[in-house]
Amino acid sequence: MKTIGLIGGMSWESTQVYYRRINELVRERLGGLHSARLLLYSVDFHEIDAMQRSGEWQRAGEYLAGLAEALTTAGADFLVLCTNTMHKVAPAIEAAASVPLLHIADATAAAIRRAGLRQVGLLGTAFTMEQQFYRERLQREHGIAVCIPEKIDRARVHRIIFDELCRGIARGESREELREIVARLQAQGAEGVILGCTEISLLLQQADVALPLFDSTDIHARAAVDWALA
Ligand code: GLU
Repeated sequence: MKTIGLIGGMSWESTQVYYRRINELVRERLGGLHSARLLLYSVDFHEIDAMQRSGEWQRAGEYLAGLAEALTTAGADFLVLCTNTMHKVAPAIEAAASVPLLHIADATAAAIRRAGLRQVGLLGTAFTMEQQFYRERLQREHGIAVCIPEKIDRARVHRIIFDELCRGIARGESREELREIVARLQAQGAEGVILGCTEISLLLQQADVALPLFDSTDIHARAAVDWALA
């Protein structure tokens, strides 16, 4: 079994889901008392949030690249960055690291292709929904068309992520808002919706909507276990 290097804490509310899910899947696949070999570097999310707000992406990239190196030195065979948003700086991490980075958008795209879908909606932070780094990767490298919510809905999703989910708050009213936003994405032509923020599945799950959901956290954790056991 390979050793997984998790770069987490963005936020820790979702990193704990990664930790649990990866271990559950290793136990399912190997049985008995098997559990995942992994290293976790969990950041202070306050610092990352500040860099996101001030647009200091280069600095954030250098910082995360440093953590990638630390995990590699400690024995990680590959890296898993436990956030969609910070994949904006994936190229900086990839350039610095001597082991591969399991890109969350690639894993998610593979799941969408397996389901036979070509056009999906994307929910995530404003950075993930509005900037090019995530959508373009899905579109250019995987041939998946991506639509995003209207501006007012994007602001709602962003607020729910940072003001509630990253602080451990799950409100029924917010779940209802997300369900309505998913319905509007469907009306725009989405055949499925990417939960492109690792906290969203803490609030919205497949049982809440009819449209197929692609939970990036679960998909990424599963792909990590595939790599670890390959
Ligand atoms: N975990 C989130 C994501 O998947 C948001 C937190 C962050 O900005 O990194 O994008």
